[in-house]
Amino acid sequence: MRNYKFRLYPTVSQEDVLVNNINVCRWVYNKFIEYSKKGTVSQFDLQDYLMELKQQESWLYNYNAKMLQMVCVQMSGSQKALKSLKENGRKTGSLRFARYGEYRTFIYNQSGYKLENGKLILSKIGDIKIKQHREIQGKIKQVIITKTKSGKWYCSVTCELDKTQLPIINFKKVVGIDVGIKNFTYDSDGFVAPNPLNLKKLLKPLIRVQKKMARRKYGSNNYLKAKKWYQIMHERIASRRKDFHHKLSTIYARKYDVIVVEKLNLTGMVKNHHLAKSILDSGWNDFLQKLEYKTKMLIKVDPRNTSVECSECKTKVPKTLAIRIHSCPQCGLEIDRDHNASINILHKVIPSERRESTPVEISKRSVTQEAHVFRHRQFTLSA
Ligand SMILES: [Zn+2]
Repeated sequence: MRNYKFRLYPTVSQEDVLVNNINVCRWVYNKFIEYSKKGTVSQFDLQDYLMELKQQESWLYNYNAKMLQMVCVQMSGSQKALKSLKENGRKTGSLRFARYGEYRTFIYNQSGYKLENGKLILSKIGDIKIKQHREIQGKIKQVIITKTKSGKWYCSVTCELDKTQLPIINFKKVVGIDVGIKNFTYDSDGFVAPNPLNLKKLLKPLIRVQKKMARRKYGSNNYLKAKKWYQIMHERIASRRKDFHHKLSTIYARKYDVIVVEKLNLTGMVKNHHLAKSILDSGWNDFLQKLEYKTKMLIKVDPRNTSVECSECKTKVPKTLAIRIHSCPQCGLEIDRDHNASINILHKVIPSERRESTPVEISKRSVTQEAHVFRHRQFTLSA
């Protein structure tokens, strides 16, 4: 499967139609919530109930049938997510009704769409102008239309690739990556990407707008103006973060065939309040998702002892988060703690004896070259 995201430019009347479709999905979703108040319901129950609804409300036939069916999938997805949260010991309530503005997507699945000549053609909606900045590969399976909080429209296209298009994997092109707060990634070849911490940088202006909102009369025109700014800033933070994740994951996916990372335990980490904001801001999960999808093979290993053990002699060297250097009393190895961790991560898949044949000096040069390009890109970004 492969995903693409494109910006949509609907006309004013088309925008009304799109909003209307979202609202119909929201209406169905809320009907489902009301229905599921009686107890847990399966996806099939929801589908039966949807048929009933359609008989009562015949206007529903004016909308794409698959789109309405996908609300069943979304609803049972939400139920499952809630259930797994509960099983992980989190406090959860029941699913709430989606208010206006909270529900912002609808899905066309398997049929009813076409992508040609810079237009996205949706059945029962029309031809919408699309900025298709890259060619798509494979056959389109699903189209998700989303309205962002600040009012932009996007379309996510999911494509299925043929088996013949599957890549050949070179197992020698392998790397271990450690993710962290100070260094966003530190890999076993010594390449470092510092954490941009986007939220932190934009936090001051964000708080300023928030204060403006608080001063103004709730619901007034000036209040709404400030609110729109607030939402734009939030999107800006999110898109900067996403841009960073995309660029970094592309560098890794081009350079290596097999990438080894730690399994993240984010719920445990976020409990440490001091770190919580930086952790949420970093969005490692989003990064790993992008990496998983771009790279030929991503292996997730058990994180136990990766930061404690010495990567050279396996002695356990405990250290607090504040200690940045791993220095081993046993063998005298002195390297950055994150570098040490990334080598340990790699060793969980490939034993150290076999790795020694790789010429470290040569790979180091190419890595620093890329690191330079990467820093340069980051610089132009912030400038
Ligand atoms: Zn050692």
